[in-house]
Amino acid sequence: MRGAGIYLHIPFCRKICHYCDFYKSRRLEWKPAFLLTLEREIAHRAPDWEGTEFTTVYFGGGTPSVLSAKEVAGILVVLQRHFSIVRNAEVTFEANPDDLSSGFLRDLRRAGVNRISIGVQALRNPLLRMMNRRHDAKAAGRAVKMAAEAGYTNISVDLIYGIPNLTVEEWEEELEEVLALPVQHLSAYLLTFEKGTVFGRWVERGKIVPPAEEIVVEQFHRLRKVTNEKGLLHYEISNFGKEGFFSRHNLLYWRGNPYVGLGPSAHSYNGKVRRWNLSDVQGYVKSGPREVPHEEEILSIEDRFNDRILTSLRTMWGIDLQQLAGEFPSSMIKGAEKALEKWLRTGHVEREGERYRLTEEGYLLSDRVISDCMVLSRPEGG
Ligand code: SF4
Repeated sequence: MRGAGIYLHIPFCRKICHYCDFYKSRRLEWKPAFLLTLEREIAHRAPDWEGTEFTTVYFGGGTPSVLSAKEVAGILVVLQRHFSIVRNAEVTFEANPDDLSSGFLRDLRRAGVNRISIGVQALRNPLLRMMNRRHDAKAAGRAVKMAAEAGYTNISVDLIYGIPNLTVEEWEEELEEVLALPVQHLSAYLLTFEKGTVFGRWVERGKIVPPAEEIVVEQFHRLRKVTNEKGLLHYEISNFGKEGFFSRHNLLYWRGNPYVGLGPSAHSYNGKVRRWNLSDVQGYVKSGPREVPHEEEILSIEDRFNDRILTSLRTMWGIDLQQLAGEFPSSMIKGAEKALEKWLRTGHVEREGERYRLTEEGYLLSDRVISDCMVLSRPEGG
């Protein structure tokens, strides 16, 4: 697939969720300075991407829905002025349910947003409260319906499973309820208890207990079952969509296409160099006319090979090792083939022609399968 993507990191949140380890800040008073800096960053970086056709724009965060529709429209105008964005580009906007109103949704559509991704996360108030989400279950359902009424035909929702106290039956009910809403796409993430988050600390102190492995495994099986019954394809480890409604933006990442990331903590990749803006909104807005604070690295052939293995194997298309032949040394390909053949024998991988992909059981061990196929990165200077 050709094309490139634009990712915008809107780093502000009104309230911090207890599980979250994305880069975000509650300093909303920096929003005007952030918007000015973002505009400057767009103008500054666009010349490096001359000749590139962009097929997707993604507003992520943080919480993009802390922006007004006018601010979103302003950003899109500036992007169009500086980058070559195709006419039918997918423009995704992540939103918190309680920021959405009919008027706001309509204004976003007029501004050019054509895909809305709503952070539902759970449909039970005690779970939402435990996670410190701003909305309640009612607001989540209402937001999805409002988006459909406002004319969106490409609606995605995020859910989380593996939450302490969420039973397998409750999870299945939640899936049924969410998929009865007018949605075309679901991202379902397994909760992780990261260090530095409130949940991470609560686990250390024994205030909450992560669910047993059997529960998480069963929740994953129910996830596959219910989405399949509702006609959604499991096309990436955490993503399910109706035919024609897969996230075009995320597909670019998974297929190794280039992307430019703007805003604090956003990552970019041009096929050779990976660049990341620093996770520091204050440093970002104070950069003035200088380049925004960032670092970059030239990817070694090992890094590129490992990236390709990681991203391909997490999708339903899997990996065709023969297609890598011109690009990577045969020793790397042979090593991956040997590992995949081993997992084929255990039933964690299946093979169709030259293509290997994870089975349902394989998804549950994806980290092990993937790391087995990877090559060791060369030490710096080596
Ligand atoms: S999950 Fe989203 S809304 Fe919650 S703190 Fe993280 S970035 Fe903000």
